[in-house]
Amino acid sequence: MHEKMNLLRELQEIDQELAEIIAIRTRHESELQGLTADKERIQAMVDELSAQLDELQKEEAQLQQELLGEKDQIEKVEARLPEIQTQKEYVAVLKEIDMAKKASIETLAKTAEKEKEIAELQADLDEKQTELAAISEKSEARQAEVTELLKENDGKAEARQSTRDSLAKDLPKPLLRKYQQIFARRGGLAVTRVADGACLGCNMQLPPQQYNQLHRGTELQSCPHCNRLLYMERA
Ligand SMILES: [Zn+2]
Repeated sequence: MHEKMNLLRELQEIDQELAEIIAIRTRHESELQGLTADKERIQAMVDELSAQLDELQKEEAQLQQELLGEKDQIEKVEARLPEIQTQKEYVAVLKEIDMAKKASIETLAKTAEKEKEIAELQADLDEKQTELAAISEKSEARQAEVTELLKENDGKAEARQSTRDSLAKDLPKPLLRKYQQIFARRGGLAVTRVADGACLGCNMQLPPQQYNQLHRGTELQSCPHCNRLLYMERA
């Protein structure tokens, strides 16, 4: 019975290490996912700002086009001045010039406003692009590190797994199954020591009779409270 118990204790030690190795893998993987998500979030902002900037630049080009048309119009009307015959016609043409100039001044103001918007948006975009470059660099460096750590971790897992397999082979199947069930249900602790008459898995006192049987060590004992497999440290 001692021999089986020793095997179980060894097995549990390895299973606990394996559980830790899996936890490390999960942590690393979620870190990588977090880095990718951060990068994608900033990239989406950059794309959105670029699209907005594109739109504003098109609107500004449209305004410049309007300004050119208005300038043409003013010149065309002014060219008519020398040929004017009547006072009435003169007043009408002056009024036309005045209106064309007012329209041009308005368009110029709109253009200036648009340019200001473009400059502000461009500054935002520059800032986000700098942020993106920094986060990409950081993410790539960390990704390389974490990939290396994962490889190391996987190597460890493989070695432990093969030790585990050879240990498990030496245990009777029903006992191995029982152990695995308890390990899964009881937070990775299936085999536990007894001290001062109590199970150290759940800290409950064992019945005196069971305690005596444990002392004799003839058969495997389970804690009546938590079902964990029990052993005693022998002097
Ligand atoms: Zn217990």
